[in-house]
Amino acid sequence: MKAVIVNSSSKANVEIVEKELRPLNSGEALVDIEYCGVCHTDLHVAAGDFGDVQGRVLGHEGIGIVSQIADDVTSLHIGDRVSVAWMFHACGRCEYCTTGRETFCRHVQNAGYSVDGGMAEQTIVVADYTVKVPDGLDPAQASSITCAGVTTYKAIKVADVKPGQTVVIYGCGGLGNLAIQYAKHVFNAHVVAVDINDDKLQLAKESGADLTINPLTDGAADKIIQEELGGAHAAVVTAVSKVAFNSAVDSVRACGKVVAVGLPSETMDLNIPRLVLDGIEVVGSLVGTRKDLEEAFQFGAEGKVVPVVQKRCLHEVQDVFEEMEQGKIQGRMVIDFKNAECK
Ligand SMILES: [Zn+2]
Ligand SMILES: [Zn+2]
Repeated sequence: MKAVIVNSSSKANVEIVEKELRPLNSGEALVDIEYCGVCHTDLHVAAGDFGDVQGRVLGHEGIGIVSQIADDVTSLHIGDRVSVAWMFHACGRCEYCTTGRETFCRHVQNAGYSVDGGMAEQTIVVADYTVKVPDGLDPAQASSITCAGVTTYKAIKVADVKPGQTVVIYGCGGLGNLAIQYAKHVFNAHVVAVDINDDKLQLAKESGADLTINPLTDGAADKIIQEELGGAHAAVVTAVSKVAFNSAVDSVRACGKVVAVGLPSETMDLNIPRLVLDGIEVVGSLVGTRKDLEEAFQFGAEGKVVPVVQKRCLHEVQDVFEEMEQGKIQGRMVIDFKNAECK
């Protein structure tokens, strides 16, 4: 079967190879992949930014059909449609795993990074850790919810936004666009979208943002939000820039919450009097649990959230990685493993 692996001497650090899978072990299932999205995290993994993983099969936005299960598997059946997510497996016993915070398990395994992932014609998963895709959800769109969708859905949960309250979304790319849709159509929040790119703000408006702000042309977002709305109840930062993180802290009202999702390798300013006197909370949010993904999928199946995806052929995968590196991509690129003419 064909698989996309990390190879630092190849174009865009990725290569398509022929690979043979080992037989299933206890508790495992074989999945025939239909689609797998390409994420910025894949670029980091391929570039070795998180450590050297030469030869690793990439992909943590995989969707496919179960074609084989180990004898002892009871949670899946052949023919089920399932996901291959970043949270691939956790220990199931530690304080994080047993208190609904399994993404922070110290022994977590991540698909397409610490174990082989879903950017391949077939992959092996731990049956109890996969999440089923509900009927009525398009598999290519489900691929995007497996990472960007669940990450932003969880972040808004962490932000604790109540219906009618205001949440600001900093960064309106692949993650931000889904954050806007979940905030507006699932949490019934009033949504402010901030980005320095007018195309993304246009899409933000079409996706449900009530107010859009381009700091380059409209002025400082935090000032506008404080003056016009008295400050937001929460801010979710998907932008990969410390400027956005600093503005987010200044955009919330007293007792507001700032949820960090983007991962710039920088340090943010945090004014201590502002933190103490206004009771501001700043918290990180990391992907989502199996339960979060199940919920995020269901809202997709109900049509409340519609990811913007574009299907691409497997043989184009190096180009897709390059285009993404160069910031040329709108929405999500999804590698098509289903279409036999496209390999
Ligand atoms: Zn991802
Ligand atoms: Zn654990």
